[in-house]
Amino acid sequence: MPTRRGTVLFDIDGTLIDAGGAGQAAMEDVFREEFRTLKEVTGIPTAGRTDRAITRDLFAFHGGECDPLSLMKLRDRYLAHLPKYLETHAGGLLPGTVEILSQLSHSGEWRLSLLTGNFEEAAWIKLRHYGIDHHFSDGGFGDEHVDRDDVARSIWSRLTGDEPQLERLPVIVVGDTPADVKCGRAIGAQVVAVATGVYGRHSLEAAKPDWLIDNLHDTRWLQELLA
Ligand SMILES: [Mg+2]
Repeated sequence: MPTRRGTVLFDIDGTLIDAGGAGQAAMEDVFREEFRTLKEVTGIPTAGRTDRAITRDLFAFHGGECDPLSLMKLRDRYLAHLPKYLETHAGGLLPGTVEILSQLSHSGEWRLSLLTGNFEEAAWIKLRHYGIDHHFSDGGFGDEHVDRDDVARSIWSRLTGDEPQLERLPVIVVGDTPADVKCGRAIGAQVVAVATGVYGRHSLEAAKPDWLIDNLHDTRWLQELLA
């Protein structure tokens, strides 16, 4: 096995793929159905947040109790509907996704993993839909934690538990929101902010990432790490 250079943790939505709003639409519809309402959901941001946090807010929005059983029931219904929504919403891979994942995977030098707010099964459904699931075997997901920083801490402690040497090597978080930058900092990571999500360069710049790129075709960060 080639020598490890470090770890790269990828966010999914707005970073690797644009699901065309499929996830949000599926989740909101599942809640509308449960609460028998046509009320448009407003005031619940989704970008950079965990599905756990978003569902908690959706329960509150509809005046429901977010107990573990109800959460599981609605999550399962969301997961059952998600593939159909991905089919009917125009989305796609973001520029440079295929190239960077292939390059990193083929080199064998980087430990790739996911760091996403998606429920775990939702993450795999999305990655499978866009044909990039084979690049990953694990990740930190939004099932257990409301706060994305806790998701970061949990995957990082699992990875370094398995491969303690990773702790001495660079860890890079690649994501499209200020929350990605913040959760990267929570684990001492360097952060690549990519402006392919809902945040423009200006808002991302304010979060002070180590690299700010227009899309994943820009691999300056990788070249600098390898230099
Ligand atoms: Mg994102």
